[in-house]
Amino acid sequence: MDSSKLHVAILSSPGMGHVIPVIVLGNHLATIHGVQVTILVITTNTSHEECQFLKSVTLSSLVHIIALPQVDISSKITPKTAIVTQLCMFAREALPEIRSTIASMNRKPDALIVDLFCPSSIPIAREFDMPVYVYSPTNAWATTLFTYCHVLDKEIDGEYVDQEEPLRIPGCKPLRPEYVPDPLLDRNDQQYHEYLNLGIEFTQSDGILVNTWEDLEANTLEALRENEILRSIVKVPVYLIGPLTRPVEPDSLKSDISSWLDKQPTDSVIYVSFGSGGVLSAEQTNELAFGLELSQQRFIWVVRPPLDGGLTNSDDNLLDYLPEGFLNRTRELGLVVPNWAQQVEILGHPSVRGFLSHCGWNSTLETIRASVPMIAWPLYSEQRQNAAMLTEDICVAVNPQVLPTKKVVGREEIEKMVRKIMQGKEGQEMRNKMKELKFSAENALSHGGSSFNSISKVLEEMKLKAQLPIPQ
Ligand code: UDP
Repeated sequence: MDSSKLHVAILSSPGMGHVIPVIVLGNHLATIHGVQVTILVITTNTSHEECQFLKSVTLSSLVHIIALPQVDISSKITPKTAIVTQLCMFAREALPEIRSTIASMNRKPDALIVDLFCPSSIPIAREFDMPVYVYSPTNAWATTLFTYCHVLDKEIDGEYVDQEEPLRIPGCKPLRPEYVPDPLLDRNDQQYHEYLNLGIEFTQSDGILVNTWEDLEANTLEALRENEILRSIVKVPVYLIGPLTRPVEPDSLKSDISSWLDKQPTDSVIYVSFGSGGVLSAEQTNELAFGLELSQQRFIWVVRPPLDGGLTNSDDNLLDYLPEGFLNRTRELGLVVPNWAQQVEILGHPSVRGFLSHCGWNSTLETIRASVPMIAWPLYSEQRQNAAMLTEDICVAVNPQVLPTKKVVGREEIEKMVRKIMQGKEGQEMRNKMKELKFSAENALSHGGSSFNSISKVLEEMKLKAQLPIPQ
């Protein structure tokens, strides 16, 4: 390892939705900023998908991955243990391995970056006298809520969803109670307290890196910089360093998908997918199928076993959960892909014009970079907040009248939304807006742009601490 180069370790929680953004960050630091990166991935007995992905992903020669030995929390959880609680437990359980892995490295990292479920490792960085940063692979508004929710906890009585007024985060867009992220919905659940604590731990780092950019979230950034109440809570600097997304890997699309897409006219296909873990009920899957069929638009749909379908994970059975005759009737119109598809490559294909998405932040950024309008269909986590931003603030998405987590969205409404983004004037306006956002995103990341400068500043701080030369 070149000792004149900065060496940064990045710690990832288990799960594709966490590993992907960390890999993207690591590759970006290496290829654009010449940093040597070691990625430590916490693994569990269900990490098969991540391990496969880690083997196949294209990495810069400066990036090295270490999959930590599996951690087991099975004796400490019940079937009801919520996901955030589990992620925090995995991170705590992995502490001894994280410490010993760093200690045994020939060249100790100069700094540590932890993802949003791993701030419990901040004290390890302190032990090794390394600066430590939290990477929040979501937007600034959601990150600010994260750091501020322990204050709301003291200010508000009762459940947040029962509030009549929006929740106030100083200087930021208020949050309507129905958009509150899942982990904050039940104040008696352990994950609520884990979430609050994560937000407090964020502010014990040396800085928070957020996967967004200044032009997209100017108001929130101003609040973080100028609002005195917020500054008294979030005392550490917040750096907007995005949008970092997975690059399109040419020719990597599975042949059946690429040959199908190649046959479709330009700008004619809607892509439908709910992220790495999103699932619908059997009834909603049925309505979505009929809605797509009624719209008579071309589609490519990544289908998962329904939530309540009592299904095995077999790809063949999965198709049984679509309405009878659906595949036959839509043979000329659509392609159904079981479980997983290469999203970035699909979104980047010239025939794709729209995306029905669960609004995970990675998917959102990938869509902006592909400049296609969206149907916002949030399911869990902070996705309702993301959807609010997309539909109300930046106006690049349409949404169902009632949140899909509250009520089944009917086929006619789905048909209408699909037509709106695929055919209507409104869809074209959203598309134009998406193109502007893409341009502004590229500017932010280019040499001298706001995100480029933010990352450079963080890397300079790390180099100063490590007494490495800083180029003039
Ligand atoms: N993804 C993919 N194929 C799929 C589903 C998801 O490539 O079939 C990728 C997607 O491109 C994104 C990530 O998985 O990079 C999902 O992250 P996001 O933040 O959108 O949602 P999450 O899965 O964390 O809910």
